[in-house]
Amino acid sequence: MERAKSRKPHIMMIPYPLQGHVIPFVHLAIKLASNGFTITFVNTDSIHHHISTAHHGDSEDIFSAARSSGQLDIRYTTVSDGFPLGFDRSLNHDQFFEGILHVFSAHVDDLIAKLAGRDEPPVTCLIADTFYVWSSMICDKHNLVNVSFWTEPALVLNLYYHMDLLISNGHFKSLDKREDVIDYIPGVKAIEPKDLMSYLQVSDKDVDTNTVVYRILFKAFKDVKRADFVLCNTVQELEPDSLSALQAKQPVYAIGPVYSTESAIPTSLWAESDCTEWLKGRPPGSVLYVSFGSYAHVGKKEIVEIAHGLLQSGVSFIWVLRPDIVGSDVPDFLPAGFLDQAQDRGLVVQWCCQMAVISNPAVGGFLTHCGWNSILESAWFGLPMLCYPLLTDQFTNRKLVVDDWRIGINLCEKKTITRSQVSENIRRLMMNGEISSEVRNNVEKVKCHLKDAVTAVGSSETSFNSFVDHVQDRIESKLCNINGLKISRPD
Ligand code: UDP
Repeated sequence: MERAKSRKPHIMMIPYPLQGHVIPFVHLAIKLASNGFTITFVNTDSIHHHISTAHHGDSEDIFSAARSSGQLDIRYTTVSDGFPLGFDRSLNHDQFFEGILHVFSAHVDDLIAKLAGRDEPPVTCLIADTFYVWSSMICDKHNLVNVSFWTEPALVLNLYYHMDLLISNGHFKSLDKREDVIDYIPGVKAIEPKDLMSYLQVSDKDVDTNTVVYRILFKAFKDVKRADFVLCNTVQELEPDSLSALQAKQPVYAIGPVYSTESAIPTSLWAESDCTEWLKGRPPGSVLYVSFGSYAHVGKKEIVEIAHGLLQSGVSFIWVLRPDIVGSDVPDFLPAGFLDQAQDRGLVVQWCCQMAVISNPAVGGFLTHCGWNSILESAWFGLPMLCYPLLTDQFTNRKLVVDDWRIGINLCEKKTITRSQVSENIRRLMMNGEISSEVRNNVEKVKCHLKDAVTAVGSSETSFNSFVDHVQDRIESKLCNINGLKISRPD
């Protein structure tokens, strides 16, 4: 029997203050609101300031268009992350993370207390990023249903989840790090130590694991075990083993890829260049899209090798180069004359609407840092990838793309990157040949999994619907407990 929904559940959502986390949180917010939830979406003041500046100050409430067009009940507010707006969070990375670890929760606590007196219906559930260390503490204090949203692949969650096994088996945080294959993590058949997230590839001899990043990791992945529900931006058919292993421990729902058709919501932290004109008239599949995402830095030497490799390859390209890609204090990093030599064959922009660019038929491949959103987006449009992982989790994402699903190839085989290898691998990916056709066939299969998953009967949609039912049940039973009521509900 259809359950009578007594009141609209109200969920507060707090993404991690990074571009790659804000985007899937926004899409999830739209999806939940479209399913009848009231949402209060919370960005940090700093993220809000970036979005607002990037959109010339006319996005005070990023959901205003979505709200009026779709009649969705999404409210928007901001919270301090503990630092002033002018503080350079990228340059002062460790200090910023200390704040996220120790101070941020007090501001969230204040915000919830402030809203408690005046919000109707009252907030009854929190969806916070899995990297936050304070979710269970805040949920216990305010009697909220605790939902953890993991915006990356299940494999990465599964490995962090089992850090204790990596430690007890001597692959992480021991004096002499083991170098052999890891085959004891539930749901992971075998993984080489080099394919672990780089934070986990260290021994106590070389690296201090008391630094802020490690304190966050240890605490966050202990805290996620106390969540009532975990949502994962992946697809059951793509990661069945890791998901089953996690699902044996607690309710984990694979609901990805979380996209929304509401393109009107401003989420970019930088102003977007429009590449449509440049792409017009270019042959289908002829352009390589190159981007290292929102957060990673690349050494100047590596940028120079990639630049020469792009020129040598003869392939057309759009290259997203954030002004701080090398560092906010290094403004000039491209080789002299690069843009002149690229001529009409290359376009360099500081930021763009990635989905708009890679959905253009002229784009035929993606040189990526293996950020998880970029992988999902690339596969969604059937684009094979050239992989150049830069940050910790991206080394593990690379394994999924290149070794497991075989929908991409490595940019370089060795650690050092050379212009000739860059050029050779760009050509292997972009020109018709054995490698290119194999990865293109495979990416079509992954694309089908992604698209099938979000159809009405697909695994992600089914999983999302059961999450909706379960979270509503949990919210109602919490409310009944507060009111001292006993629930008796007909089946
Ligand atoms: N993105 C974008 N424009 C760009 C570069 C990236 O809109 O010029 C978006 C991209 O579509 C993706 C997100 O920013 O959704 C980056 O997330 P990802 O997980 O790929 O990498 P991260 O930035 O977290 O390292």
